[in-house]
Amino acid sequence: MTTGNPMAAPAAERHAAIVGAGPAGSAVSEILSKAGIAHDLFDEQPRAGGNIGRRRFDAPPQAPEGAPLCRYHASTRVLSASPERELTWDDGDAIHRQTYDAVFLCAGAYDGMLPREGRFDTWCAAGSLQALLKGQGIVPEGPVLIAGAGPFLHIVAADLARAGAKVAAVVDALPRLAYVNLLPYALPVLGNIGIMRDAQRVLRGSGVPVQFGRRVATLARDHAVTDRGERIDFAIAGISDWFAPQTQLARSAGCAQEWSDTGRYFITSVDDAYRTDREGIYVLGEGAGVRGGPHARLSGLVASLAWLEAVGHPAPPGHDRHALERQARDVAAFGQALEAAMTKRDVIASGEAWACACERVPVAAVRDAIDQGLEDLSSLKIVTRCGMGSCQGRYCEPVVGRLIAERHRTPRAPLTQKVLARPLDVGELIRRG
Ligand SMILES: Cc1cc2nc3c(=O)[nH]c(=O)nc-3n(C[C@H](O)[C@H](O)[C@H](O)COP(=O)(O)OP(=O)(O)OC[C@H]3O[C@@H](n4cnc5c(N)ncnc54)[C@H](O)[C@@H]3O)c2cc1C
Repeated sequence: MTTGNPMAAPAAERHAAIVGAGPAGSAVSEILSKAGIAHDLFDEQPRAGGNIGRRRFDAPPQAPEGAPLCRYHASTRVLSASPERELTWDDGDAIHRQTYDAVFLCAGAYDGMLPREGRFDTWCAAGSLQALLKGQGIVPEGPVLIAGAGPFLHIVAADLARAGAKVAAVVDALPRLAYVNLLPYALPVLGNIGIMRDAQRVLRGSGVPVQFGRRVATLARDHAVTDRGERIDFAIAGISDWFAPQTQLARSAGCAQEWSDTGRYFITSVDDAYRTDREGIYVLGEGAGVRGGPHARLSGLVASLAWLEAVGHPAPPGHDRHALERQARDVAAFGQALEAAMTKRDVIASGEAWACACERVPVAAVRDAIDQGLEDLSSLKIVTRCGMGSCQGRYCEPVVGRLIAERHRTPRAPLTQKVLARPLDVGELIRRG
């Protein structure tokens, strides 16, 4: 176990840890390797790549490329991070703990749906369909509806169509004009336009109807009705209305959180170099705001270079941190404009729908509590039970936050993160403790 002041440790004895082997964590690993610093990289997936680069379950376990000094802990869940940079992880056999000089939290984001009346096993997040397809090779049987808001819907639908799924329709709340308005922000990320065009080409070629500027007004077990009154039958509906960063580990480390008006989620407060208010703890990639893959990689380069500078370790040649920071800001502007366009179209109308599906708390109950003057998530949790279920608020917090924002108020504080960032049953804890 290592402890101590990151500023005081000699270079050869420095220990760094990265959680998450997506584009952000892989970029950190690349820079640390080039700087000659051995480091631990944890991912609960067996293979590096994160959400964009997710590979099939039968691909061999693999660390990120170009990072020879990386000790890759595959299929290993990091359960918590402490303010003193101690990580606790579960490798399937035992629970381990170690303190590091620097901790880079690159845990990514997740997608979810706005509350809708009813809750059927034929509905899931569009991201889950994509994860099942990419990770397990599972192609859903029967017609698939992809609905919600944003370009991710088109990417998922195109992936499904390419794999032979029958996509019944894509219903995107963003009108075409919203995409046109994003073009000025897209210059630093022209690749994104190519990805969207490519998806449209696949969908056209597969005869998939794509509706822009439309919402699903009614979602039943096996069909949807759009706000134009059109019925769409499906076997599975993949819905993605919003994305939110995985902030649980940063919260367990006591890193300050703030409400993002554009994203409508709580986010870890970071500076331009992705430093949190806890010394030696960095939060980056989608964990620092949902800004896309190119930003995730840039944030990894910036944060790792910033740490090397902080500890007086020479940066590998050819990397100008300040230029990368400017690039990251320009790229982030696109993600921010996109999420602002998406959240502008949020509607949570029905009081009957569940704000918290785990505890079955109706939206109306949360609205009542907000009208009593509650504006922080922990108080709302006590009064309504939102956040007490098995997902521990991961899915209802962005919804409850939206309900507060709906009343033109700013959510004051997020849910308090208890020790574990991932659910672990007591039996497991005893067996491995
Ligand atoms: C479901 C989903 C699918 C997506 N698909 C695409 C796509 O096809 N194309 C595209 O352009 N963009 C896609 N995106 C957006 C894309 O994920 C991001 O732009 C990019 O991958 C972000 O990189 P990252 O490194 O920040 O996080 P990610 O790539 O998400 O990587 C985070 C990694 O952290 C690991 N992790 C998280 N918590 C823990 C923990 N406690 N312990 C151990 N490991 C942990 C995860 O397993 C994951 O591998 C998707 C996003 C989501 C949520």
